[in-house]
Amino acid sequence: MNPFENALKQLDTAAAVMNLDRDKHEILKHPDRVLHVSIPVKMDNGSVQVFKGFRSQYNNALGVYKGGIRYHWDVSEDEVKALSFWMAIKCAAVNIPLGGGKGGVIVNPKELSEGELERLSRGYVQKVWRNIGSDKDVPAPDVYTTPQIMGWMRSEYEKLVGYEDPGVITGKPIDQGGSEGRSFSTAQGGVYVTRQLSEKLGKKPEDTTVAIQGFGNAGSYMALILYKLGYKIVAVSDSQGGVFRQAGIDPEKAVALKQSGGLLGCYCVGSVCDLENGELGDCQAISNEDLLELDVDTLVPAALENVITKENANNIRAKAIVELANGPTTPEADKILHEKGVVVVPDVLANAGGVTVSYFEWDQNVKGEHWSEKEVLERLEKIMVGAFDEIWQAKEKYGVDMRTAAFVKALERIAGKMKV
Ligand code: GLU
Repeated sequence: MNPFENALKQLDTAAAVMNLDRDKHEILKHPDRVLHVSIPVKMDNGSVQVFKGFRSQYNNALGVYKGGIRYHWDVSEDEVKALSFWMAIKCAAVNIPLGGGKGGVIVNPKELSEGELERLSRGYVQKVWRNIGSDKDVPAPDVYTTPQIMGWMRSEYEKLVGYEDPGVITGKPIDQGGSEGRSFSTAQGGVYVTRQLSEKLGKKPEDTTVAIQGFGNAGSYMALILYKLGYKIVAVSDSQGGVFRQAGIDPEKAVALKQSGGLLGCYCVGSVCDLENGELGDCQAISNEDLLELDVDTLVPAALENVITKENANNIRAKAIVELANGPTTPEADKILHEKGVVVVPDVLANAGGVTVSYFEWDQNVKGEHWSEKEVLERLEKIMVGAFDEIWQAKEKYGVDMRTAAFVKALERIAGKMKV
């Protein structure tokens, strides 16, 4: 289950459907370049530890390379390559003028002190600064990287180049050039497409049960916003495990619990049934694997790749899947789900809200503007709804799943601008 091999299979499937030019197809099987860096970090105990990092610049036919930096112990070159390819497809699928890039560092950030994390982040920029910039390659947050880390990276970059370039990185804190709405934009974009999907399936929010795997930036905001719209959140999980409650979970209380440093406990709807001290009441403790197989209307994988595979695809009971994570479904699982009639709203559409507001942030930085949250969300909604409708139509036209349809629309745009 090498994510880059999965990405190439997705490319080949779409290329065959659309008759993609052979030369362009060949070029698109390779990233433009992948930087490998070693980052020495002075640890708090005085020793130096060297961390391995990557930056893959996949394709910039539509605009500067764009994509997050991930801090995770499982980061690998092939993972970063896949993620950078998906960024190129994602930007093109929602028609924003950006290319695809992605970075990563092999590290468990939970084991680092704040000082070590800052030195690691500045150290990463010291190794890649010649290759990034608002006119070259613009990083952003991803798994386990935060606005604060983006702020440190911007500051280190500007120190090295000797001039201000706020658009070198997105996802910054608002007072350091960040955009309104960026913090919850991945989820907000996912909510717009979930709402469009509910309309297509003729299902009201209050009749729609949702299970969300992952409670980071994407998953927690997704739970909060869907809950406010009336969707019934019946299961949530984080890396430690999950909880299920048929009558519904109030995600605001789960967020408060997590923020206070506790595990993701079970807080049900209504104060009478709030539970504390590890007691589960009518909530059921479930594993991350169990969550994926729940009998719900909508399943939202919002953590890592390769969680829906040929091993469990047959057990999926959800009617629809909204991929807030990147690469959660393997090509083999896609095939099984399509045959079962499960609608999969693919990552390159479902989670594109994050990079779309990153694009707005970069645009505001370059123009020296600051837009209101209302303006950001209006623009985001227009882009997400437009892309959803276009990809839905392409799916009907070609008789394919939504992922292949999204790839076809994206590849048409990328190939149209590629110079061979
Ligand atoms: N890491 C996010 C993604 O995978 C956002 C990337 C960005 O904002 O550039 O889409």
